[in-house]
Amino acid sequence: MTIFENVRVISFEPPAVSEPMDVVTAVPGTGASPGTIIETGSALGAKYPGAKRVSGSYLSPGLVCAHTHLYSALARGLMVDIAPSKDFAQQLRHLWWRLDRAIDLPILEASALAGCADAALSGVTSVVDHHAGPEAIDGSLSVIRQAYEEVGIRGLLCYETTDRNGMEGARAGVRENLRFAREIDGDRAAGKRPLVDGAIGAHAGFTVGEETLGALADAVRTSKRGLHVHLAEDKFDAVDSRYRFGSDLVARFDAAGCLGPKTIVGHGVWLSQAEVETLNARGSFLAHNARSNMNNAVGYNALLPRFDNVVLGTDGMSADMLEEFRFAAFRHRESGGPWWPGDFLRCLDRGNRVMERYHGAPVASGSGAFGRVIAGAVADLVLWDYDPPTPLVGGNIAGHLAFGLSSRSVKSVMVNGAFVVEDRAPAFDADGIASKARAEAIRLWKRMEER
Ligand SMILES: [Zn+2]
Repeated sequence: MTIFENVRVISFEPPAVSEPMDVVTAVPGTGASPGTIIETGSALGAKYPGAKRVSGSYLSPGLVCAHTHLYSALARGLMVDIAPSKDFAQQLRHLWWRLDRAIDLPILEASALAGCADAALSGVTSVVDHHAGPEAIDGSLSVIRQAYEEVGIRGLLCYETTDRNGMEGARAGVRENLRFAREIDGDRAAGKRPLVDGAIGAHAGFTVGEETLGALADAVRTSKRGLHVHLAEDKFDAVDSRYRFGSDLVARFDAAGCLGPKTIVGHGVWLSQAEVETLNARGSFLAHNARSNMNNAVGYNALLPRFDNVVLGTDGMSADMLEEFRFAAFRHRESGGPWWPGDFLRCLDRGNRVMERYHGAPVASGSGAFGRVIAGAVADLVLWDYDPPTPLVGGNIAGHLAFGLSSRSVKSVMVNGAFVVEDRAPAFDADGIASKARAEAIRLWKRMEER
């Protein structure tokens, strides 16, 4: 057990900062509620004399990244001859599809470990991944799962099924998603509580034909998971859908029965008002990735405030969600949109709803809730080393996130009641992960030159 003593608790939704209080957590295997917050209040030290005592200034829920690609962790500073691209489709062809074909399982393991470590050190306790690696599909999600477990963070995995490497590749993608969902179901049936769950992944509208779309819809139904897909990241995807299939993207995926409250749509930059309304009616999430959209010059999502369930993702940029939050807020200000940082704080918090919908919805007592510092909620927490030059109160948390609080203030990170970072020291082998990643990065870049 751990007791955080005299910490001010930052709640993101609704925004609030508490008076100094104590928060008691338990690791799995101890106490009645494994991996959860077991009590909050004042002067709890006497009640839990055996608990490890930790002090600090501010304690908040862990941050959630609702869309990323861990396979891109080894693309940082990429030194490969990449032909210039005229548009997004060419960027995929010249860079990303060469990179994902070059991934083998050792490269995948190294990139997943590096990405998970980066997240943990940034105070990100849950990461939603969207994986591609067409030359090493079978078993790939279990390799990523091992990386999550080695670092000790939570998440949601999927394989991004696509037709672009032929129909056998597409079938292998669906198969891997289903295999992994069953792996998790088996563990849960055996009484285990896995840190990760599986979604059903698909690359994008323009690389998923009718046969594959049908197979994905079947997989969504039988696995009771949601689809995780890129839709309308670039205008080409929206135009191609109408040209080849005579239908808007969302209408096409909805008609197949793919959309529901567990669905995560990445980007959605070029969706229409009618498509936004359909996603809202299905309760689906829209993962906004401001930095990636800017980097790929795919345009700005002007309809963002119309979506009910916007969550924030990094799309493979650095795992730092506070950085992502800032880019989302500033790019929106630049676009002249109506949202303020507080609206993006709600989006950041909403990533917890993704985790709840997969890992089990909270019951009335708060048991199983994500993103809440209350008894019964999951013990995924960040202890901040933050001494602000202005008052920090409920009404200005978003302002502190936009203009001050950064990942350099992350002191300790707890997931499932256990420290993954403590007093700025990672509990995992960060040096080993980084040196292995550098070696595999050189091999990945060489393999890309061959493709
Ligand atoms: Zn993406």
